[in-house]
Amino acid sequence: MTSHVVIVGGGATGLSSAFWLRREGVAVTVIEKGIVGWEASGRNGGGATHPYSPLFREEQRLWPMMDDLLGYPTEHRPQRVRIAINQSQLDIMRATENLAAKQGFKVEELDNKAMRELIPWVGDDVAGGAIYHYGGQANPQRTLQAYAWAVQDLGGTIMQHTVVTGFETTGGKITGVQTDQGLVGCDAVVLAAGPHTAQLAAMLGISVPVMAARAEMIVTEPVPLISVGGSDGNGLYGRQTLRGNLAYGGGPHEWIDLPDHRTPRAVNSPVMRSVARRLFELFPKLGHIRVIRSWAGVIENTPDGRPILERLDSPENLVVASMSSVGFGLSPATGRAIMQLVTQGHCDFANLDYLKLNRFEGLGPNWAEEVGWRPWSPEEEGAA
Ligand SMILES: Cc1cc2nc3c(=O)[nH]c(=O)nc-3n(C[C@H](O)[C@H](O)[C@H](O)COP(=O)(O)OP(=O)(O)OC[C@H]3O[C@@H](n4cnc5c(N)ncnc54)[C@H](O)[C@@H]3O)c2cc1C
Repeated sequence: MTSHVVIVGGGATGLSSAFWLRREGVAVTVIEKGIVGWEASGRNGGGATHPYSPLFREEQRLWPMMDDLLGYPTEHRPQRVRIAINQSQLDIMRATENLAAKQGFKVEELDNKAMRELIPWVGDDVAGGAIYHYGGQANPQRTLQAYAWAVQDLGGTIMQHTVVTGFETTGGKITGVQTDQGLVGCDAVVLAAGPHTAQLAAMLGISVPVMAARAEMIVTEPVPLISVGGSDGNGLYGRQTLRGNLAYGGGPHEWIDLPDHRTPRAVNSPVMRSVARRLFELFPKLGHIRVIRSWAGVIENTPDGRPILERLDSPENLVVASMSSVGFGLSPATGRAIMQLVTQGHCDFANLDYLKLNRFEGLGPNWAEEVGWRPWSPEEEGAA
C-alpha cells in the first residue's frame, strides 16, 4: 500500500483522485497553486458525455451516484439534446451517436415538433436533432467544491496557494515535492496540473506534449427552465443552470504560451461575440435575451486530442494525467482509474493503453508549431 500520495493540482482530476484514494485509506495531500477548481475545472461547460473515451462507461455509471458518494450536490442532470442546424453538422452528430450506440447507449432521433417540445427556442428549419439517453452535465463550481469538501471530510489535506517548483528523486522514485512553502515528502505523485503538466513533467526529464489554449464562455439572463439541462449544437456546448441562465462556450481556441506557473485569464470580446452569435443561430427565438457574464479558462490539449493517463515506468511512482479538454466530465472515472494505478499499478475497469504517453515517441519539439498551434502574439496582430 502506498502510504502518502502527493497530488499536484487541485482541479477535477487531482481532487477526484484524492477522493478515491482517501476512500481506500491512502493519505493524500493535494497541492494547488491557487484556489481549488479555479482553473479550467471550475470554468467549463459541465458536459459529461464522452463516448469516444475508454472511460466513457465508467463516466456514465458514476455520475448519477456522485452526489451520494461525495455527500454534496454537483447539480448533475442526465441526458442531452443535440441539434444540427445544417447537413454537415448532422453528419458529424450521427458519427458520434454511433460510437455511443455501439456501446449499448440509446439515442433517439427527434423531429422538429418533438425537439421544440423539449427546447421551445429551437428554430423552425433545423436539419435534425436527437436526445441522448446517456450523458449529461453538472455544475462545475458546485462539483469542484463537492470534491474538495469530500476530500477534507475523509481526512485528506489540501494545500492552497502553494506552488510546486520541483521534485526530489532517489533511486528512480520521487521522494519529495518541492514547493514555495517547503518540501513535502511522498511515496507517490499524481501530476494533474492541467496545461502546466508539461512544464512540471519537464523538471523530471519527461516530455508531455500539451499545448495551452484559452476558451471562453458566456452566460445569459435566465429563461424558463427546460426539462433537459444540456443541449449542444452549432459548435457550442453548454447547459442551463438551475436558475435558468444559459451558460455556453465554444471555439475557436486561442493558443497561448505559459512561460511560468501563472495562468492568464483575459476574455477576448471577438470570441464572446462569436459564441453569442452562434447561440442565437441555435436558438433564434431567444434573440432578445442579454449576455450578463463571461469568463475564460485555459484548456490542456494533446496533439491527438486524447488524454494522457499513465503510471510511468520511470519514475515508477508517478502517474501523469493530462485530460485534453474532456477532464471535467470524465473526472469521476479518471480519479478512480488513478486510484487504481497508484494502489495496484493497473486499472481493472478500462483499457488505458490508448492513453499512454509512448504514442508520442518521435514527436519533435516543434510539434505544436508544425500543426499550426501558434500562440497569439500582439505584434502579429498589430501587423495584420
Ligand atoms: C471554457 C471551457 C469549457 C470546457 N468544457 C468542458 C466540458 O463541457 N466537459 C468537459 O469534460 N471538459 C470541458 N473542458 C475541459 C475541462 O475543463 C478540463 O479538461 C479539466 O478541467 C481538466 O482538469 P484538470 O484537473 O486536469 O486540470 P485543471 O482544471 O487545469 O487543474 C489543474 C490545477 O493544477 C494547478 N497547478 C498548475 N501548476 C501548478 C503548480 N506548479 N503548483 C501547484 N498547482 C499547480 C492549477 O492551478 C489548477 O488548479 C472545458 C474547459 C474550458 C476552459
